[in-house]
Amino acid sequence: MKPIVIPAKYNYIAAFLTFACNLKCDYCINNHEAPAGLFKRKHLSGKEWLIGLNRIVSRPDLPITLQGGEPTLHKDFVEIVNGLKSDLNIDVLTNLQDENIFLDNIEPARLKREAPYASVRVSYHPKQMDSEVLRNKILRMIDYDFSIGIWGVMHPGQKREIKNAQTLFKNCGIDFRTKEFLGEYGGQLYGQYKYPEAVGKTVRRRVMCKTTELVIGPDGGVYRCTADVYANRTPIGNIFDPDFQIEDKFRPCDWYGHCNPCDIKLKTDRFQRFGHCSVEICIRKEAGDGR
Ligand code: SF4
Ligand code: SF4
Repeated sequence: MKPIVIPAKYNYIAAFLTFACNLKCDYCINNHEAPAGLFKRKHLSGKEWLIGLNRIVSRPDLPITLQGGEPTLHKDFVEIVNGLKSDLNIDVLTNLQDENIFLDNIEPARLKREAPYASVRVSYHPKQMDSEVLRNKILRMIDYDFSIGIWGVMHPGQKREIKNAQTLFKNCGIDFRTKEFLGEYGGQLYGQYKYPEAVGKTVRRRVMCKTTELVIGPDGGVYRCTADVYANRTPIGNIFDPDFQIEDKFRPCDWYGHCNPCDIKLKTDRFQRFGHCSVEICIRKEAGDGR
C-alpha cells in the first residue's frame, strides 16, 4: 500500500471510529445531518484501522484525532491507540465516561506531545454529567500524568452551568476551555462562519469546495468534509484502497447550504491562530440552484 502523505496545508486528521455514544446531548452536532442509521454504519475492526492509519505520513504538530460519537466505545479502541506507529501523534476527543480504559491500558506518554492544548480533550455536558464526578476522574488522569483538559460548549441555554463548572475545574488546576455553540437555538443561528449561507439549509447550491482536513469515517471512507461523513454521502476514497492518495484540489459539491457548522465555522488552526476555516468554497454564480 502506498503511504498517504498529508499535504503541508492540512490542519486536521479526523478518524471517526464510531458514531455511537453513551450520552444523549440534545444539541449533539452528530445529529445535524443525521440520517436514520447514522449509528449503525459499518465499523472497521481495530486491525483494519491500523492498516489504514499506519499508512499516514504526518508531522509532529498534526496528530491523528480519534473521535466520534464516543471513540472509546469502539471495541478495539485500546488496540488502535497502542498499535499506531510511534511517529504518529494521537489526540482523543472523549466524554470520559470510562476513565479506566485509559488508566488501565494506555501509557500516558503515548498521548503526549508539544502542543498548546491537551491531547485528551474531554467534552463537558452539564445535563448529562455530574461535574464533581468528572472532576475526580480528571484529577485521577492528571495523577497518572495524562495530558488532559476539558472543553465546554457555550450552549445559550447552559451558559451559567458551563461558567460554574469552569470555576470548579479551574480551582482544581484543571484546564477548562469553552467552545462556541454552533447551530440553531430558539430560532437564532449561533456561531461565526466564513460562509454564513452554507449552514442553515435555506439554500442548496452547486459549488467547488476544497478542504484542509483528512476526514475518515467509521467504514474507512475518506470524505470531502464532516457533513459528508455524517450524511453518508459517497466518499472520495478509502484508506484501504492501496493507491489512495490525497489530492489537494477543489471538488464539485451539490450540497452547499447544507454544510456542517464544524466545516464552515471560523476557528483556530493548529497554531491556535483564529480565523481559519476548514474549507475553501468557490461559489460559481452561473451554476445556479443545485436542486
Ligand atoms: S457526548 Fe458528544 S457525541 Fe455524545 S451525545 Fe453528547 S455531543 Fe453527541
Ligand atoms: S460545500 Fe459544504 S457540504 Fe459541500 S463539500 Fe464543501 S463543506 Fe462539504
